[in-house]
Amino acid sequence: MTQYDYDLFVIGAGSGGVRAARIAAQHGAKVAVAEEYRVGGTCVIRGCVPKKLFVYASQYAEAFEDATGFGWTTEKVSFDWQTLVANKDKEIDRLNKAYIRNLENAGAELIMGRAVLEDRHTVALSDGRKVTAKYILIATGATPFVPSHLPGRELAITSNEAFHLEQLPRRICIVGGGYIAVEFAGIFNNLGVETVLIYRGEKILRGFDEDLRDHLAAEMKKKGIEFRLRCDVEKIEKSGDGVRITCSDGAVFGAGQIMYATGRIPNVLGLDLEKAGVELTPHYAVKVDEYSRSTVDNIYAVGDVTNRLNLTPVAIREGHAFADTVFGGRNIAVDHSNVPTAVFSQPEIGTVGLTETQARELHPEIDIYKTTFRPMRHTMTGRDERMLMKLVVDAASDKVLGCHIIGPDAGEMAQLLAIAVRKGATKADFDATMALHPTAAEELVTMR
Ligand code: FAD
Ligand code: NDP
Repeated sequence: MTQYDYDLFVIGAGSGGVRAARIAAQHGAKVAVAEEYRVGGTCVIRGCVPKKLFVYASQYAEAFEDATGFGWTTEKVSFDWQTLVANKDKEIDRLNKAYIRNLENAGAELIMGRAVLEDRHTVALSDGRKVTAKYILIATGATPFVPSHLPGRELAITSNEAFHLEQLPRRICIVGGGYIAVEFAGIFNNLGVETVLIYRGEKILRGFDEDLRDHLAAEMKKKGIEFRLRCDVEKIEKSGDGVRITCSDGAVFGAGQIMYATGRIPNVLGLDLEKAGVELTPHYAVKVDEYSRSTVDNIYAVGDVTNRLNLTPVAIREGHAFADTVFGGRNIAVDHSNVPTAVFSQPEIGTVGLTETQARELHPEIDIYKTTFRPMRHTMTGRDERMLMKLVVDAASDKVLGCHIIGPDAGEMAQLLAIAVRKGATKADFDATMALHPTAAEELVTMR
């Protein structure tokens, strides 16, 4: 008889938790997973997946316009938001069921309800039960952050609600200049909503390569998105069916909705981590080591709740590595370097490795290769949209340290470029690779 009810208790059935539970069960562990909302977590239910479906939907607006350049007649085209939302919900339901099935097939027990810590081996469930486990994994993700002292904050929506709006507003204000703000600005704008982006800084997408930041802002403005930079929202008031927004630059204007995309905070509130002695970082994330172990040696944490790199594949990799380390007898630390990432803005960003600024801080001499051009499709559509590609190369070793792309399929390219960067490919390797014509990606091996 084992001393505990379970070998592993996972709190949160999102990207990281589900992967960890499945792999641990496959290694022979007795596993339970608690989920308080919907299995699949943020990515599947209200993140990557529905967001990408909305991006696809919104891209048709330009596709119909562009088709006329190729001889198509596209009169009487119309769009129905409710149909999009209903079809998206159907797909999310399908994925949710597939995730539940996968957990069951792996032999993990799913408990629908909230779980909080009672002590380092005990979890209290919302149905009143208390269960014990040798190991506990905290995989509770993160939650949208809206500044707490903002007058009228209850009138603002976040990405969570944006997926379920009953109807599209005529005008929307999006606050923030990160991933979610620029992605949703593109979605709403292309779907015909007047879109205003309010950002407190000078330039959107802090942390990305400067050329990408400038290029994306310019393209978004060309598409009609209004930028209010160096600007904070001071208050939000109800006004008719919408809101009235007062900004720090003195502007007062109305909108149907205001959406906050001002970051996300780790879900640790009310988890009673202190009862088990689990320490947090100054940003309220669970403090972990390279094996995702917390400051309590049988309690681990993966994914957004640890606020390392808040991306789905990273949460999945951390969950998998945890399960292999603790139950599979292989110590695996996740490598967080050279992680490719895409921003599904319009146009899209794909990037891997160091930005020019980071590279200049770390290496004495850097070579930059850069090209901007009109994608071939637009020679016929007349659309004034340009693509940018940039390679950051260490002059001493000739190694490609960073690749930065903005334009159609940039994310797809970044995924493959990540292999090259990870393997230490040099600029000479890129040059020696035969071009594939006619593609946009061929520019990556023909820049001199
Ligand atoms: P989650 O997937 O959030 O899972 C945590 C789970 O724990 C949730 O289901 C929650 O309900 C549950 N939970 C919390 N507390 C408790 C409790 N006490 N008891 C029981 N259950 C609990 N990443 C990408 O890589 N690509 C993208 O395109 C992308 N797009 C995104 C778009 C949006 C709008 C958002 C918000 C995020 C996006 N992300 C994207 C980020 C990605 O969704 C997260 O990094 C990822 O989901 C993190 O996984 P996780 O396992 O850490 O947490
Ligand atoms: P980000 O951290 O990307 O951006 C937050 C933005 O809000 C920044 O522009 C930040 O400004 C601004 N901000 C923060 N606090 C305030 C404040 N008090 N007042 C005004 N503005 C503020 O977070 P997101 O919410 O966009 O996304 C969360 C995370 O989810 C991302 O970082 C990413 O890891 C993940 N994600 C990934 C996606 C993908 O892979 N395609 C898509 C969506 C999300 P400043 O820069 O000045 O600090």
